Amino acid sequence: MEKIRMQTPIVEMDGDEMTRVLWKWIKEKLICPFVELNSEYYDLGLLHRNATQDRVTVDAANAAKRYGVAVKCATITPNRKRMQEYPELTEMWKSPNATIRSILGGTVFRTPIMIDAIRPVVSCWKKPISIARHAYGDIYKAVELKTDEPGECCLVFRADSGAEQRVVVQRTDGPAVFLGQHNTDESIRDFADACFAYAISQKEDLWFSTKDTISKVYDGRFCAIFEEEYEKYRADFERLGIRYFYTLIDDAVARVIRSEGGFIWACKNYDGDVMSDLVSTAFGSLAMMTSVLVTPDGKFEFEAAHGTVTNHYYRYRNGEKTGTNPVATIFAWSGALKKRGELDGIADLVRFGDCLEQAVFDTLQDGIMTPDLVRMANPDAVTASVDSEQFLDAIADRLKKRLSA
Ligand code: NAP
Ligand code: MG
Repeated sequence: MEKIRMQTPIVEMDGDEMTRVLWKWIKEKLICPFVELNSEYYDLGLLHRNATQDRVTVDAANAAKRYGVAVKCATITPNRKRMQEYPELTEMWKSPNATIRSILGGTVFRTPIMIDAIRPVVSCWKKPISIARHAYGDIYKAVELKTDEPGECCLVFRADSGAEQRVVVQRTDGPAVFLGQHNTDESIRDFADACFAYAISQKEDLWFSTKDTISKVYDGRFCAIFEEEYEKYRADFERLGIRYFYTLIDDAVARVIRSEGGFIWACKNYDGDVMSDLVSTAFGSLAMMTSVLVTPDGKFEFEAAHGTVTNHYYRYRNGEKTGTNPVATIFAWSGALKKRGELDGIADLVRFGDCLEQAVFDTLQDGIMTPDLVRMANPDAVTASVDSEQFLDAIADRLKKRLSA
């Protein structure tokens, strides 16, 4: 079989620990035998970030900006414990994801990978629900204040022009707490654009929820900007037969629970924080959750939602075989290759990505699973509990069949 050729490189960001091991195996067993992989490689492993003073992370993000499609392995965000584990670290380097996000901007979409053997806790969910979380401002960038005395708290805006706006937050007769938060039109607009563009690329409905009945100015601004931006995408939505739908957050949660799934739910920062944990837990596990950063100008960075699975890595280093689940990392690769194929008009590459995902589903359908899935699955659906390499080999067999069909 001739290997599939690529045109534009994808930006490949390697990472750490167990996911770095899986990364190499995925390329060896599932990608390189079938695709003439054209990637621009950046080693975001902790030691190489340290050796380059974290320059490599910035370079990788800029490459993602240039080429438009990246795939990222999970990486260690160093903390105090890691500084002891890696004494050569010259600094407690920032989270690579935060660095990349600050360069690219954009919104993170998280989507569960569903399989028949694992039923969501919510029995009517038939299709995945993707959460889009606004990642700027609100209580995550708020200022807070506590008083033990009676008095008056005001919110004052001093414009550069000299104009001033002032509102009384509250007069208090005794101890009280206060909170000041903000967001910007620019950030909300970028968020809206990323959500509409992603809904179009996924051909799924977009839901958006806030509490604008109570927060008429603040949340009201979110609604107004979404409405305005929607006009740019309305024709595409109508052409694809998908829908943009706004509702109050409390109505949204009730509808989400009663839904069949199959849509994207755009959430404000706090709502997205809480709801993404709720939705991902109800669907199964982080090991079966993909994550993609989409920028308003249409750049994509694909990754798994989980971390580097440190405790499995320590066991692997001691010579043990581990059953670390590679599904989310495989889907990061298939997502990136499909997107690259779409953008470059290479149908074979898109088909390869689809076949790779189907081969994962075939393997799971045949009851071959890593232990984390075995624990959650209907016991009748399990035939073999396997380690990571056996699992990847089983996928490779099925991938060959799919590709030659
Ligand atoms: P984690 O790597 O996601 O692992 C937490 C636990 O979840 C594991 O111990 C394992 O449970 C289970 N798990 C996660 N992924 C799995 C998989 N693919 N297969 C099987 N089980 C899986 O989170 P963490 O331990 O909090 O973080 C470890 C490192 O990852 C940290 O250094 C952190 O900075 C980094 N991190 C990176 C990213 C990223 O790059 N996007 C995201 C989060 C964390 P059992 O032990 O019960 O098997
Ligand atoms: Mg959270």
